Amino acid sequence: MGVYEQLGVKKLINAWGTVTRVGGSKMAPEVLRAMCEAAQAYVDIDELLRKAGERIAELIGVEAAFITSGAAAGLAVATAACMAGTDPVKVARLPDTSDMKDEVIILKCHRFRYDQAVRLTGARLIEVGLADRTLPEELEAAISERTAAVIYLAEAEHVRGSLPLIKVVEIAKRYDVLVIVDAAAELPPVDNLRRYLDTGADLVLFSGGKDIRGPQSSGLILGKKSLIEACAANSCPNHSIGRPMKVDKETIVGLLKAVELYVQKDFVHETQRWEEIVQYFVVEFRDIDGVKVWRGFPTEPGIQPACIPRAYIEIGETRLGISIGEIQARLREGDPGIVVGTFDKGLVLNPQMLEEGEEKPIVSRLKEIFADSMRRCGY
Ligand SMILES: *Cc1c(COP(=O)(O)O)cnc(C)c1O
Repeated sequence: MGVYEQLGVKKLINAWGTVTRVGGSKMAPEVLRAMCEAAQAYVDIDELLRKAGERIAELIGVEAAFITSGAAAGLAVATAACMAGTDPVKVARLPDTSDMKDEVIILKCHRFRYDQAVRLTGARLIEVGLADRTLPEELEAAISERTAAVIYLAEAEHVRGSLPLIKVVEIAKRYDVLVIVDAAAELPPVDNLRRYLDTGADLVLFSGGKDIRGPQSSGLILGKKSLIEACAANSCPNHSIGRPMKVDKETIVGLLKAVELYVQKDFVHETQRWEEIVQYFVVEFRDIDGVKVWRGFPTEPGIQPACIPRAYIEIGETRLGISIGEIQARLREGDPGIVVGTFDKGLVLNPQMLEEGEEKPIVSRLKEIFADSMRRCGY
């Protein structure tokens, strides 16, 4: 019996995406082997962090990199780095920010659920603009001698009322203010690993456990050497705000291996695989009464990565007599359960984390659910 069976925890087929709540992503066997080997010896963690960071920076082609326990931890660590730098007194004082710059500016339309990770360092978020409009002058006016950084949410770049990153960088640079970009789920394309730094951001965060498929509790901070050193000062194993966000030797080695694989990955082939799965869904549901299916891409912010094709299934609720929530619940009931994304009118099937053959049970279970409800409706 497997570890999950022993506990009575049901496995899930993941047509939702790299969602933490369902386990994020799976690691490649090479990553698991590297982690297993790493678990079998003691090493100096500072040295391992430094050398693994250097190797990752080299692989990606950026100045420096630091490994965290996730992009959310990266938000806290990067914010602490911008406030306390490497000053041991300040590092130890956080979240008490006396004698430090402690304001972090955020566009109102970029406020997001993870910004609590910025606030837990003691930083105060200063919102600029309106929910659907930001003027460059508003950003400029919010900058003061108390400003530690601007936090920019990559996925919100194109929401209504946002300012382009390049504009935010230009204004911030004029006042020597640092720009942190949360790009946790902005992969693929792999070029994004460099893109935000190339645009002029100072620190950029990625999840290690999303498309990179490293350990779920891993993440990357990329940026300039001096700032990456400040991130290290504010992280485990140092006693600092980042100490509770520990990364272990297995995670460090596992993420490095995952990045090695990621920068060599054949994305043309991967994209083709995604397209084939989506096409299969489209063909299978095309002639089902009461539903409409098409290939599409997410348009609303917060559904990342936006470049992966999905199958959208619009549910004619009145005709089918079943709600989106009920369909989701029924998909979860089976064993293995099935998790899918949703949009306002139906289901979104995301091929990103699906493995060979997993698309079949999704189709048969959905068809069963649709047929049941049609029958109940008396068609
Ligand atoms: C997923 C995500 C995070 C959190 O990343 P973890 O690696 O799970 O900590 C933070 N910000 C954004 C925008 C995300 O999508």
